[in-house]
Amino acid sequence: MRVTLLGTGDTTGTPTVGCDCDTCETARERGIERTRFSVHVENERTGESLLIDFSPDFRTQFLRDGVSLPDAAIVTHIHFDHLDGLGNVFRVFDALDLYAANETDPKTGNSVAETVREDYHYLEMLEIHPTTPLEPVEICGFDVTLVPVDHPPLICYGVAIEDPETGAKLSLSGDTSYDIPDPSRECLADPDLLLADAIVPAHLCEYHPMGGRHENDDGVPRTFGTKHMTREGALDLADELNAEQTRLVHLAHYYPADEAFEEPLAVDGEQYDL
Ligand SMILES: [Zn+2]
Ligand SMILES: [Zn+2]
Ligand SMILES: [Zn+2]
Repeated sequence: MRVTLLGTGDTTGTPTVGCDCDTCETARERGIERTRFSVHVENERTGESLLIDFSPDFRTQFLRDGVSLPDAAIVTHIHFDHLDGLGNVFRVFDALDLYAANETDPKTGNSVAETVREDYHYLEMLEIHPTTPLEPVEICGFDVTLVPVDHPPLICYGVAIEDPETGAKLSLSGDTSYDIPDPSRECLADPDLLLADAIVPAHLCEYHPMGGRHENDDGVPRTFGTKHMTREGALDLADELNAEQTRLVHLAHYYPADEAFEEPLAVDGEQYDL
C-alpha cells in the first residue's frame, strides 16, 4: 500500500491567499504547501488506486505529485474542502466508483451519498455506492470501512483501509473532534499509519469563540471549538489507537511559524509505503 498525502491543509490552505503571516511567509520561502485535504492510496498488488476526498486543489495535486488517477474514491463529508473538487473529474474520467455513507444527516435531510448525487447530477460517469458505516466493503482490493466521527453540525466519517493480503493498515480520522465513538475507535485501532486531523495547537483554543473542550488530565483541550482536534488531541488519539506512525493533517496557517513545520506535522507530497 502506497499512501501519498496530496493535501494536508485546512479549508484555506497554507499559504493562505492574501495572508502575510509568518507561517504563510515561511511556507512561501521554503516552497512548502498545505493544500486542501486529499489522500491517494495505491494498491501495488492490483495496480488500482483509491482517492479519499476531492480537494478543490485536485488538478494541482495530481500534476504535482504524478500519482495515477484513481479507480475509486470516498467522500468523507460534504464540506467544501473535501467535496468541491469533484467537478474536476468532468471530461477527465470515463468511469469512477464513488463510495459515501448512506446514513441520513438530520442537518441536511440527505446522506453524503445523496448530496453527492444531487449536487453532481451532471457527472454521468459516477457510479455512486451508498455505503453502510462500520461494515467493511472491498474497494481496489482493500477492506475499507467508513467510521462515524464527530464534526458538528454535519455527519462525517473517518476511514480504515486494510490490505487483506499484506495486513498493511491505514487509518484516517476524518474531520473530527476528539469525541470519536468507541466502535469507530475499534475499527481505526492498530494502524501502520494514522492520519489525524490536528487543525491548531491547543494553546490557540483561547482565540476560539467557544474555546476548547475534551481536556486531558493536565487540562489541555483536545478539541478546538467543536469540530476539530487540537494537535494534542490528535497525538492522544494516536497513542490510544496504538498507531505505529502518525502524521498530523488538516493543518491551519494559525500554527505559529516556529511550530508549523515541526514533526509530526505533515506537508504535501509525503509518501509512505505500508
Ligand atoms: Zn497565514
Ligand atoms: Zn469539515
Ligand atoms: Zn475539512
